[in-house]
Amino acid sequence: MTTTTVNRTWSKTGMGKLELLEAPVPEPGPDEAVLRTRLATVCGSDLHFLHEFPMPRGVEQVGMGHEAVGTVAVLGENVRGFAVGDRVVASCVVGCGECGNCLRGQLQACLVLGKVPGISNALAGCQGDHFVVPRATINMAKVPEGLSDERALLAGDVMSTGFSAVERANVETGDTVAIFAQGPVGLCATAGARMHGAGLVIAVEGVPERAEMAMRLGANVVVEPEGAVARIRELTGKRGVDVAIEALGRAETFAAALECTRLDGTVSSVGVYAAHRSLDVPVGLGFYQRKIVTSLCPSGSDRLRRLFALAEHGPADLSQLFTHRMPLSATDEAYELFGSRRDGVIKIALTPDVEDGS
Ligand SMILES: [Zn+2]
Ligand SMILES: [Zn+2]
Repeated sequence: MTTTTVNRTWSKTGMGKLELLEAPVPEPGPDEAVLRTRLATVCGSDLHFLHEFPMPRGVEQVGMGHEAVGTVAVLGENVRGFAVGDRVVASCVVGCGECGNCLRGQLQACLVLGKVPGISNALAGCQGDHFVVPRATINMAKVPEGLSDERALLAGDVMSTGFSAVERANVETGDTVAIFAQGPVGLCATAGARMHGAGLVIAVEGVPERAEMAMRLGANVVVEPEGAVARIRELTGKRGVDVAIEALGRAETFAAALECTRLDGTVSSVGVYAAHRSLDVPVGLGFYQRKIVTSLCPSGSDRLRRLFALAEHGPADLSQLFTHRMPLSATDEAYELFGSRRDGVIKIALTPDVEDGS
């Protein structure tokens, strides 16, 4: 039930070019939902995509933003379990629901969507008035009444990704965990390590506001990136950590994570290496008998519901990550601020400029 017919979406129109484009409000396909944006944000991978990748062939514009809370505006005829007006979050990566990996619950590793040109497996256009959720029945979930937009939004991407770094490393009770870089995903990994029963949690971060946030979310100690490996060795009696999480996407941090992991320990990588097509890893003694795991953002309605439950009833309030608020019309400024890491920025809440009251 949209009251407007024009849809404005911040779109990539060339390498590093971000423009607010107007188009008609999209019509959903039979399996899709059209959502009206309530709250959106900028993610580190938006910056990578905007500045580091050429435009896909034959494409002139790509709607930006893959994290949002929305209100269901229109539903395709096959979508089940939702009604117009529902407050929902969709996962930032979407699955078909039918392939082998989707049936195993790994929708982010869908073998169908994203594998055929023209069929994307990523949510797009959340930095706009309305956006489309593909295969909506299985890729979005209703937000519980008691959960704020800020807490709910994070389940669609950074909370799911940060927690998966911990889950994929099989963090066990009492494990010592080091998390390299305390951006939004790293902070969620820090909170996740604490909630999964880690013992000593060591955060690696040089920005004071991020270091403070890491302590609030469950880190016991924060060490500077410079000399982090030596400091971590000291803190662990030279043994190294059971699990090191790389949440930055740089070769140096990956190498440091590997170097500070104990023999038979695990390095869990969730950093986005983006346009870097290779990763130089030192293969000294610190390389052998380590487990290396990587993950994408676990997705789908069941994952969202679980993260909502944790956000609603669990110990940490991750909505603290929202340090700044801006209108959607200032999304270009939000990219600039987020990219600069100025003013203690961690996550920026982008809200529609005018409530149309529908
Ligand atoms: Zn993202
Ligand atoms: Zn699939």
